[in-house]
Amino acid sequence: MHTETESAEQTEDVAAELAARLGRGDVVLVSGDLGSGKTTFVRGAARALGVEGAVTSPTFTIGQVYAGRGLEVAHLDLYRLPTLGAEDPALLEDYLTSDRIGFVEWPGTPGAAFERVAARVRLEHLGGDRRRVEVE
Ligand code: ADP
Ligand code: MG
Repeated sequence: MHTETESAEQTEDVAAELAARLGRGDVVLVSGDLGSGKTTFVRGAARALGVEGAVTSPTFTIGQVYAGRGLEVAHLDLYRLPTLGAEDPALLEDYLTSDRIGFVEWPGTPGAAFERVAARVRLEHLGGDRRRVEVE
């Protein structure tokens, strides 16, 4: 399924629709160039799951955990992690537990493998505020 959005709010709405179909243990991989709207998408989904505070890409860690409505939401950004060493997959699993819903920006890092992938989201710039949002 793909759609075109014309604002960050519309991308957040698409994310909220996906969030309504997610359950504990689900992981969503979110790909796309810098500024394409990955964090915006995660924010929309997190809001729909009851997260109220700031949702921004983690800067000094690979991930953070937010309190949602009755469950936790994990948000990882692997941009600064060029490759995964031997012990790093376990590090990812520390965030992506079976009782949380997880979102991963830049999931293409070599060595990264994700279990329980419920959806793959791809964002593309279409000029100005327009984005192509594909949810698979
Ligand atoms: P990424 O995490 O992919 O680097 P961000 O979500 O941090 O991207 O940033 C996307 C930027 O583009 C934000 O400033 C957002 O407000 C803006 N923006 C404008 N139009 C859209 C749109 N249609 N969808 C998502 N973001 C948009
Ligand atoms: Mg981001």
